Amino acid sequence: MNIVILLGAPGSGKGTVAGRLASEHDNLRHVSSGDLLRGAVAKGTAAGQEAKGYMDAGKLVPDALIATMIKDVVAETTGDVTMLLDGFPRNVAQAEILAEMGAPVTGAVLLDVADEVIFDRIAGRRTCPKCKAGYHVKNLPPKVEGICDKCGEKLTIRKDDNPETVKDRLVVYHQQTEPLIAYYRERNLLKTVPGVGDLSAIVANVLAVL
Ligand code: AMP
Repeated sequence: MNIVILLGAPGSGKGTVAGRLASEHDNLRHVSSGDLLRGAVAKGTAAGQEAKGYMDAGKLVPDALIATMIKDVVAETTGDVTMLLDGFPRNVAQAEILAEMGAPVTGAVLLDVADEVIFDRIAGRRTCPKCKAGYHVKNLPPKVEGICDKCGEKLTIRKDDNPETVKDRLVVYHQQTEPLIAYYRERNLLKTVPGVGDLSAIVANVLAVL
């Protein structure tokens, strides 16, 4: 097992690209820290109850809380698999925790998207609460409006996708997550892929640098 980290602002397309790649390639596995946390919130676990307030406010949950979840997923993943890690690490301290786990990070791919584009994207974002498939009302609409193509569930809008919280999440991204670009560049692991334009082309460009 090896790990490739997906870097990029909220709404840069990390989940969409990783989801598409994992569905098309058996050896690729998409792991989203946000999905792990939303799952814990939905189940009402102790970790979920602790995380909820931070998530609703667009803030990062405590490092130890999310690191424990990621450690479990890393420990249970074996064999000839590349894990596409989406949303973790979110700051340099988490990158150090990941390195201490002994997890073999073989690359970090930055999906490069300007903040102005992010607002428009997140405003139209719709998510399937059941199978986690992501859609966009304009850029990636489901076949039937409001319904997941894959499992037929009613699509929802994430609670933290409102404009005020998005602003806060972008501030957190620039202050805490962006330093990871330099962190992985210094370790010769960084690849940058433009995150705008045709989705299939973006997916192909990410695959090419994995
Ligand atoms: P995401 O789906 O990646 O946009 O994550 C949604 C929310 O979950 C974030 O705004 C944070 O509150 C929380 N979260 C996800 N990943 C992490 C992480 N690695 N560290 C801290 N908080 C996280």
